[in-house]
Amino acid sequence: MEKHYCVIGDPIAHSLSPAIYTRLFARHHLDNCIYTRERVTKETLPAFIAACREKRICGFNVTMPLKEAVLPYLTYRDPSATFGANTVVQEVGTGLAGWSTDAAGFEESLKMHGRSLHGAHVVFLGCGGAARTLISAAIDKAAAVTIVNRTPAHARLFSDSPKVTIASFSDLTDHLPGCTLLVQTTPLGMAGTALQYSSLDFLAALPRTAFVADLIYSPAKTAFLEAAAKTGHEMMNGLGMLIWQACYAFEHFTGIRPDKDDFNDVAAALHAGDEK
Ligand code: NAP
Repeated sequence: MEKHYCVIGDPIAHSLSPAIYTRLFARHHLDNCIYTRERVTKETLPAFIAACREKRICGFNVTMPLKEAVLPYLTYRDPSATFGANTVVQEVGTGLAGWSTDAAGFEESLKMHGRSLHGAHVVFLGCGGAARTLISAAIDKAAAVTIVNRTPAHARLFSDSPKVTIASFSDLTDHLPGCTLLVQTTPLGMAGTALQYSSLDFLAALPRTAFVADLIYSPAKTAFLEAAAKTGHEMMNGLGMLIWQACYAFEHFTGIRPDKDDFNDVAAALHAGDEK
């Protein structure tokens, strides 16, 4: 029997998820699984959820702007999905179960660079949906966390955590000495937006040994990462996180945990797609 999976969000046309999952299904000989992308807005989400039950969609991934909006529909919400779910499985007889695999994906990607959140001093630029999941993981790993956000009040939900400092961009350079990991989580520099940092001079205040991560994967090198290369910092973009979070979601869908060979194969396939 065919098993239907999909990714929902808006915009969705450029999602890499179908390419990733189709590759993983093929590698694991799951020939009865198909994966589609579905344009779903906040307004059409209730209709999608109803149709998903009727059409027996086995599971779906959730992207912008629905990660939080999907939460009220879950009959099981894993603690990882406190700030939003990116993976939902339709469980026979019990309803929709949701997880977020974003933090696990980020950490696995970081691990490939020999880095970890454990005991790190992490400065997060931005405090949106993706950042919140990572901030929560960093707090769980006893990291010292500084959140620098355009609207500092949006970070207040973390203000009770003893190792969290909340700051604004005007004070950013004061918080960089001592930083071991700088994580860029805003859409500044993302393809398809005209958004850019007005200045990246703050990178000069970052210790040379600090690792720099950008959650953006398109373009592969944002102006932020270009500037970090010039200041001699080691870095990664968001592609590793994107592939690993899909690998963890794949495990929720199929019970199979993809390994490093799967990761490398998917990464190579995506790079080959870039070159076409
Ligand atoms: P989001 O919830 O909309 O959060 C956006 C954050 O960026 C907020 O902190 C917001 O600050 C800040 N921001 C927005 N515009 C800004 C501007 N002009 N100047 C300064 N700050 C600004 O978005 P999200 O879902 O967290 O996604 C953020 C980025 O992560 C996107 O580029 C997305 O593609 C990427 N992402 C990548 C992966 C991956 O697997 N690699 C996974 C998830 C997300 P305010 O609080 O002031 O509004």
